[in-house]
Amino acid sequence: MEKKKAPATKKDYNPFETAQAAIDEAADLLRLDEATRELLRNPQRELWVRIPVRMDNGKVKVFQGFRVQYSTARGPAKGGIRWFPTETIDTVRALACWMTWKTSVVDIPLGGGKGGIICDPKSLSAGEQERLARAYIRAIAPIIGITKDVPAPDVYTNGQIMAWMMDEYETIIQEKQPGVITGKPLEVGGSAGRGDATARGGIYVLREAAKAYGVDLEGESFAVQGFGNAGQFAATLGESILGMKLVAATDSTSGVYNPNGIDAQKLVNYKLKNGNLKGFPGAKPITNAKLLALPVTVLVPAAMENTINEETAPSVKCKFVLELANGPTTIPADKVLNSKGIIVIPDYLANAGGVTVSYFEQCQNAQNYYWTLEEVQERLDLKMTAAFKAVYEMSKAKKLPLRKAAYLVAVKRVADAAKLRGWC
Ligand code: GLU
Repeated sequence: MEKKKAPATKKDYNPFETAQAAIDEAADLLRLDEATRELLRNPQRELWVRIPVRMDNGKVKVFQGFRVQYSTARGPAKGGIRWFPTETIDTVRALACWMTWKTSVVDIPLGGGKGGIICDPKSLSAGEQERLARAYIRAIAPIIGITKDVPAPDVYTNGQIMAWMMDEYETIIQEKQPGVITGKPLEVGGSAGRGDATARGGIYVLREAAKAYGVDLEGESFAVQGFGNAGQFAATLGESILGMKLVAATDSTSGVYNPNGIDAQKLVNYKLKNGNLKGFPGAKPITNAKLLALPVTVLVPAAMENTINEETAPSVKCKFVLELANGPTTIPADKVLNSKGIIVIPDYLANAGGVTVSYFEQCQNAQNYYWTLEEVQERLDLKMTAAFKAVYEMSKAKKLPLRKAAYLVAVKRVADAAKLRGWC
């Protein structure tokens, strides 16, 4: 069996190699047989589609799209769709793989998948976005559905795009089937509490981790790298649920820092109004690299993969890293953080709140009966708390960092399901 090593430099970083290296390590610890390893280290199915779209100028532009179903051993594939200018098949594979561990670690009856379209959504008009969304669904319609694969939003996609996608699918099958897509607006079958679910789930897990490691987070500092949906809600919920003090935040073009604290809600309002954080009153500018090196209690990477890497890891000084992004820490960087005694709450545990409420959305769509916000949040809390406890118990029993323990929990559940099905 071929074993791949995680690459060292930022330039040649391939997230799928990182994903596979982690599987190899878990497979060794779990002593998985050869067939199971082979099954787990590659996607079950992937579809590459060419998507012609009539642009506003009358010309047709052909986009490249992907949908990867990494594993359906535990249920229908589940995972978002990214619209990203530098999207690659290996990034989509890695993200689909991580979705498999994510649904497994929170123990929801779903597999893992991910979709991607190579495009720059910021340069597309609303009409072009709608035509692209609908054309993509027409192209992948044969392999999606409530019992097959259920997409959701991800980087640069949103509720409106999900509504168009669901509508296109329902038009194709000539039936109402809102559960085919999650992350929809409330008016078309979305769930209460889906909007802040990723960050809220992460904050619940952080609360449990702090209890487990005997740290009182009240009044402690935190910094958020990446100020999109997850980062913004992490900032406000870190304050309101845990009583922590936001001291810094950055987005892709700007950053702000105030060691005495920043009002998170005001910063979110400022970002929504101005599009970035530049010039926020009462705070100094800060770069991404400097934010990562702040001596805060909790560092929250909430942007993209490969943020904490071999270049940036040596300067990280926090107590906890709460990974709200998918794949923000490379394997060599993770080793550096571990050697410094930093507690890393791994991505697919920390950010599983989004897919957990997506699953609740599917349940509500299937029942055609909708839950209150309180019900959603209470059930999310139960799921996230149980997931953290399972991982923490494993980490204590095996004397392993949380990430490795999470792999043991998640990979074992998928391997057991595949074995019971007779796949390996
Ligand atoms: N895109 C989100 C994630 O990476 C949510 C996926 C979903 O809800 O299916 O977890």
